[in-house]
Amino acid sequence: MLISDLFKQKKALYSFEIFPPKPTADLAAIRGTIERLSALQPDYISVTCSAGGTGNSRTAEIAKIVQAAGVEPLAHVTCVNASKADISRTLRELSEAKILNLLALRGDRVEGAKPSDDFRYASDLTAFIKRWSEGFDIGGACYPEGHPDAPDILTDIRNLKKKVDAGVSHLNTQLFFDNEDFFRFLDMLALAGIDVPVQAGIMPLVKKAHVDRIISLSGAKIPAQISRMIARFYDKPDALMEAGIAYAVSQIADLLSAGVRGIHLYVMNNAYVAERITENVKNILNEVNAQ
Ligand code: FAD
Repeated sequence: MLISDLFKQKKALYSFEIFPPKPTADLAAIRGTIERLSALQPDYISVTCSAGGTGNSRTAEIAKIVQAAGVEPLAHVTCVNASKADISRTLRELSEAKILNLLALRGDRVEGAKPSDDFRYASDLTAFIKRWSEGFDIGGACYPEGHPDAPDILTDIRNLKKKVDAGVSHLNTQLFFDNEDFFRFLDMLALAGIDVPVQAGIMPLVKKAHVDRIISLSGAKIPAQISRMIARFYDKPDALMEAGIAYAVSQIADLLSAGVRGIHLYVMNNAYVAERITENVKNILNEVNAQ
């Protein structure tokens, strides 16, 4: 089902994001992960794509495995290094497989890769996909703390409006750890006339490697509660896992209490984390959607 139709039926969606294995890797592990994630009955599972040399190839392959497992896939499509011909090829493969939910992204610039002559922003890609076929349902990315390239958050939101006007029907946020940033962001979107549903992106910080990566790359603000957790449990894997899951659960419970339109869990291909979090929030989600 198209995700914009799911939003018409439900108050709050619940979804997972996974990434494809390396081109040479065996598919057994990701198949096992998808099977376990599917058992949790998410509304959809999104599959990332690399922006650089390897292109979108494995995204479609993994999205087809999600589909075969009985869950709606959402395929990410990046354009920063792609030509119109590349994107057309990707769209043809996805539409032939009846994978109609896409996340249109610029992608991060990759060292050494040739920048696209055809697409500058995700809004260019969105407009291209719309022209290619009206049959796709297109989501976009957004940034509660502002995109790092934007001079300020208001400029970023003005640019986001262009993406929505180009045809994006729902938005997924970058990860954030302070819900107040998200609520303030929603207020700014309303003032800017952006009224499409927004799903909150939640990244459970459960492993040392995530902590290092998130702190150096995402630019997300780290609240004092998370700093304390990292300072105390950085080298204690079991405790970090428990504390990270507990933080994500409390963030989700607060967001759902406030009426968020959905939770998108960055599960980093870790089915165990998804299971633990889902177990803790499923009654809240059921209650919200029953109202
Ligand atoms: P855009 O919407 O194009 O915005 C990029 C920058 O350009 C922003 O600063 C914006 O303010 C500015 N801008 C936009 N339009 C205009 C305009 N018309 N004029 C002037 N400035 C403009 N990356 C991957 O490589 N693969 C993935 O699978 C992937 N999945 C993601 C999923 C989510 C939910 C999120 C939040 C991000 C994801 N990313 C992924 C990262 C994303 O590709 C990067 O953050 C990238 O830098 C920006 O992509 P975008 O689609 O948001 O770009």
